[in-house]
Amino acid sequence: MPATRLTGEEIARQLGRSRRDFLRGAAGLALGSALTSGSPFVYGQKAARQRKVIVVTFGGGARDQETFAPEGQGNIPHLLQELAPQSSFFTHMQNQGILGHYVATASLATGVYETLNNFSAVPPEHPTVFEYFRRDLNRPLSNAWVVAPSNGFNRIGESDSKLYGPGMGARVILPKHLLTAASSGSLVDYSHLLRDNYETPLYTPQIGGGEVELAQLDRILKLSVSDFMAHARTVSSPDELSMYIAKRLMREESPSLLWITMHDIDIAHSGAYSLYLEAIQRTDRLCAELWRAVQSEPEYAGRTTLFVLPDFGRDADADAGGNGFQHHRTGDAASRTTWMMALGAGVREGVVYDRPVQSIDLVPTLGAMMGFSPRLSQGRPIGELL
Ligand SMILES: [Zn+2]
Repeated sequence: MPATRLTGEEIARQLGRSRRDFLRGAAGLALGSALTSGSPFVYGQKAARQRKVIVVTFGGGARDQETFAPEGQGNIPHLLQELAPQSSFFTHMQNQGILGHYVATASLATGVYETLNNFSAVPPEHPTVFEYFRRDLNRPLSNAWVVAPSNGFNRIGESDSKLYGPGMGARVILPKHLLTAASSGSLVDYSHLLRDNYETPLYTPQIGGGEVELAQLDRILKLSVSDFMAHARTVSSPDELSMYIAKRLMREESPSLLWITMHDIDIAHSGAYSLYLEAIQRTDRLCAELWRAVQSEPEYAGRTTLFVLPDFGRDADADAGGNGFQHHRTGDAASRTTWMMALGAGVREGVVYDRPVQSIDLVPTLGAMMGFSPRLSQGRPIGELL
């Protein structure tokens, strides 16, 4: 009998299931029921007002072979042993949109599969989570922040939707832009921290669009340019620099909605497997450091929900059109099937869910948690988190 070729949907389901089994084996997570009847947490209005949410996305997901599968687990000790056991873990998140990092992150932030040109510094078409959050809850500009790599992400904080209007979005900080500005004329070589956009190295984003300028560093982060540069000399990658800035923001501005986009793993496009693995290990460590920072900051401890999710996956080895770990070109099931963990305030601990959820479900979920209405989002709130 000839072997039956699996459909993309079947492959995706299998990926989710095997991820679930890895988690149950390695981190002791229990399988959650598909439908839960009401939250075990009574979350009053006051608690909702004080609630803080941090979203960490990876631009450039990693495959299970290098992460959750037995042969990859050594690369993610922190995610697996520290964070996953505290989390509600969704093993099957689908991205049905365009697999470019800026457009995919914009889709995560609007709850609509955006169709903007991935390689241009344009704002998302639909309102962002930051606009919904700030307008509905009447929050000041300082309450929503994005820390992002510089390849076009300077426009991620605010859509060009006429419904919300200019000035209703998040402030955006691009640590690499700041470092570029600060290090011009410096004798120290910061080039390893300034690498950007591993897919199209020649693409240079336009600057401008509301992001924080070097001159504001001192006022906002209480950080002098020389201290910033001195610290930059001690970090090993752009994401490590981003995490430093994010922690600084938590201390000085205490945003209630903080979005951090990491990008080191995408060095996979260079084809260097060892650098890709190193980036996974670093990302794993940085996520745990961030979670520890949450516990040690009085403004965040006990009232913060953390989401960690890749924007999408990478190609499967088996697909002739892709190059395995290196790219995400084929749009195959492996590159579209990713995962999400949520942990902290109001989230059930140590539960794994393998029903499919969508990238565009994140914003409606945040809306239901925090009390704002993402009117134009096309996703649905994830009931297991409410
Ligand atoms: Zn990529």
